[in-house]
Amino acid sequence: MADYYGTWKEDTYVCDKCSWEGTGEQCTQGEMFKDLFEINCPSCQERLDVVLYPTIEESCANWDKVSDQDKIIVLAHEQLTKDFETKCLNSPEELPDVDGDHLVFVWDFIWDDYLAIIRFGEKVIWREPAFYEGYTRFREVAIILKEKYGERLKDLAPAQRSYNALLGDSFSADETIQMVRNWVGQGNLCDLPPEKVTLQRVEKSRNNNEVKSDSNKTTFGDTRSTQSLSNLPRLYTTKQLPEIKSDDDLVLVWDEIESENSPQIAIRYGNTIIWKEYSYFGCFNRFEPIAILLQQKYGAKLKDLIPTRSSEINLYGDQRNAEGIVSGVQGNIWMSRYAPNP
Ligand SMILES: [Zn+2]
Repeated sequence: MADYYGTWKEDTYVCDKCSWEGTGEQCTQGEMFKDLFEINCPSCQERLDVVLYPTIEESCANWDKVSDQDKIIVLAHEQLTKDFETKCLNSPEELPDVDGDHLVFVWDFIWDDYLAIIRFGEKVIWREPAFYEGYTRFREVAIILKEKYGERLKDLAPAQRSYNALLGDSFSADETIQMVRNWVGQGNLCDLPPEKVTLQRVEKSRNNNEVKSDSNKTTFGDTRSTQSLSNLPRLYTTKQLPEIKSDDDLVLVWDEIESENSPQIAIRYGNTIIWKEYSYFGCFNRFEPIAILLQQKYGAKLKDLIPTRSSEINLYGDQRNAEGIVSGVQGNIWMSRYAPNP
């Protein structure tokens, strides 16, 4: 393994397979990975070594060896870092006071300015430069939000369009975000979310959910859905929905609340619950009909409908593809596929 600014270009390599001999500079570049690339024998393509890409610090320390093209990247990175440090959230004092004892914030993303923003209904709580693979920042911000809003903060839900920037190419990012969201909903400050996700803990929380779901099912699963079909109010026309005055994009939250001792689906816009109906185990089949009516009412301005962590047990039920169905519907909302024809 060679360092980028090391001596690999001058070093002599001998190919075990075809006996080619030459310097690292004469080798051909092989496959590239996130942190390194391979150099291969130019005659038979056998891999001879791997070279680590330089860190920013290494580039600065070897400035005379840095190519002009790389210098631009390093300087731009430094500028971005400086810019981020002046604009990023550092302490709970920088956050505004917010009313309400059931706060569900939306982690949103503005592509044009590459900004991460945190919404509560129409109120933008915070904005700062976004990162590619920004899920580690998601964790940091969640901790500061929790410091400020404490138990009142129930979820920090990422909007569909923030996912590319948040997750990037990372395989563990999605699980990290779910862990942080779990912690936001349940945790206290002494019990910080782990920096790296351990599969074991995810497994454990899934199992807990399953236990809980099963008990839900036996108490009011199937009977509730038939009962609710016949005599409980459901959203079936846009006339049941209130007007929302907002010039901004609309991002709504699919939450679950306890009301009159039974679980209810609550569609939230900040503190305002704009629709409420009975929930049941596996109610994901309500997600699309409700999404359609919401976009019929609010048009292309509606960009997302995001399930909170606490709604997921009943929403997904034991249907394996429910999560896929829900995120498909979210994609349709984002593409304005349910919007009325202008
Ligand atoms: Zn060879």
